[in-house]
Amino acid sequence: MPSPPGPPPAVPERRLALLLERTARLHRLTAHLSTAMSLEDVAAIVVDEGTDALAAHSGALWRISETGHELELVRSLRYPPEAIARVQRLAIDPRVPIADAVLRGKPVWLSSRADYAARYAESASRTEALTQPLDYSVAALPIMLEGLPAGVIALTFAGERPFDADERSFLSFVALHCAQGFERARLYEAESRARRRAEAAQQRAAFLAKASALLGTSLDYEETLRTVASLAVPGIGDWCVVELADDHGGSRQVAVAHVEPEKIELAYDVRRRYPPDPNGRSGVPNVLRTGESELYEEIPDELLVRGAVDEEHLRISRELGLRSAMCVAIKDRGTVLGAITFILARDDRRYTRDDLLMAEQLAERMGAAIANALLYRSAREAIRARDDFMLVAGHELRTPIAAISLLHESLIAVKDGTPLEKIRERGEKLRSQTTRLARLVEELLDVSRLSAGRLSLDRDQVDLAQVVRDVTDRMREELERSRTPLSLSLEPVDGEWDRSRLDQIVTNLVGNAGKYGKGAPIDVVVSRRGPRAELRVIDRGIGIAIDDQPRIFERFERAVSSRHFSGLGLGLWITRQLVEAHGGTIHVDSRPGEGATFTVTLPI
Ligand code: ADP
Repeated sequence: MPSPPGPPPAVPERRLALLLERTARLHRLTAHLSTAMSLEDVAAIVVDEGTDALAAHSGALWRISETGHELELVRSLRYPPEAIARVQRLAIDPRVPIADAVLRGKPVWLSSRADYAARYAESASRTEALTQPLDYSVAALPIMLEGLPAGVIALTFAGERPFDADERSFLSFVALHCAQGFERARLYEAESRARRRAEAAQQRAAFLAKASALLGTSLDYEETLRTVASLAVPGIGDWCVVELADDHGGSRQVAVAHVEPEKIELAYDVRRRYPPDPNGRSGVPNVLRTGESELYEEIPDELLVRGAVDEEHLRISRELGLRSAMCVAIKDRGTVLGAITFILARDDRRYTRDDLLMAEQLAERMGAAIANALLYRSAREAIRARDDFMLVAGHELRTPIAAISLLHESLIAVKDGTPLEKIRERGEKLRSQTTRLARLVEELLDVSRLSAGRLSLDRDQVDLAQVVRDVTDRMREELERSRTPLSLSLEPVDGEWDRSRLDQIVTNLVGNAGKYGKGAPIDVVVSRRGPRAELRVIDRGIGIAIDDQPRIFERFERAVSSRHFSGLGLGLWITRQLVEAHGGTIHVDSRPGEGATFTVTLPI
């Protein structure tokens, strides 16, 4: 029979009381620790409460840095400020007790100053300078997570301390709970980071969907861009600015949205006072020039200093509190149309690559929407121009047809004895109206040929002076009818040109000089200028306003009313096409009421 168990060995009463008290403290500490959600909270509870509970003189907690090469101070209690500065970051060096505890993965117990000096001489002599010359003891406990160190706790006690088995196991418990707290905080932080990321992704997707829908519905794109910008605030940014490129290498702001609407005026004001340098190496000008996106996860003060024009500019930039920004080009098939900028100016949110990706997707849709709206606008303008043109063309064609049909009738109705002279006169008129009709039809055909790019030149050796002589001979009668004097100054210039197209160029220009020349003298000058031939047609008629001058070389464009002058607005467009097909140039010098000089140059 086994002997009955004897009574358990007696625990001395003082030790029992101490053990009970420590267990109670450990309970309080773990209960409190279970509420800690961040590493900082865990460190605060462990250091502050641990130090007090153990009646330590001072305490601190470090974690292992992300690189794994250093210890970073998370919390310290009752460390003199100069000591805190020294221990903020520590190399993991076996000559320092806390680092040694990390390296070994085991607590380091230093029961007295002499013990410290004996085992870590170098570190002890450095510590000496900061501590009063009294005795002290140190416990350094690594915080182990799955067998690997994650940080270390150090507690310093006044006076010698043997660190008996009870105390060691109590402190080891504290370190164990601390490790659990670390793990919980790490998981919690990872989870809330993931949640924040998921929320941000959802917000971006929702914004993109809304903005895309908006962009697809309206053809008034400037208004739509403004709506999209205000939709982006505050979810995507605290500021959103849209700029559209102009024709002079600059840009104009078409939309500014801000969480605090009263700041919008400030933004316009800053831009007026400090217009962006179109050659700037960063920001909107750079994005407009290069088409490349820019992401400033962090906007450090030095960036503001670099971008500031003067003190006042810097002051305003700082006041705006810009923290993080991204700027993306709005493009349509490789052409930069504008840029959209998002700025964060309030909390600690920062833009990431994911935000930039969203901004690029948005900008792509904006580019397509703008291109669509422009295409729609120009299609409508083209349709309007074509309708106007049809009306004019109808009238223009009807005039010679009406004349021809009258002359035709009168010739059919000719009676015996009508003088031959009269019949011949009607025949002449009939020919002139038929020529006019043929010319109009030819112009129309030329337009469709040229628009379809079906112009081919039949080059030959041609003397430009001779072409002018032929054309003016043919037109002499017409000019005499309007009593327009014509003088020619012709230097023979031979070149490889298409004779009939050259004829057409001269006919158009001299014809216009006659039509718009008010019967005043016309000069036609042909001369050679180095490797080029120059033709000038000078009249002294109604002239052309400066603003109209570039326009008259376009299709259907006229600077006169059809009530006063007949015409289709095609002659100069055709002329320019023919000149350019020869590699030449055409331009006009004119002032209203003072006549016009058209100059054509052609490479020989
Ligand atoms: P159209 O003469 O049939 O209108 P054009 O293409 O030849 O068409 O000319 C376009 C416009 O340019 C004219 O409508 C007129 O306003 C202006 N223009 C052309 N030549 C002259 C000129 N010599 N003097 C003044 N205006 C002119």
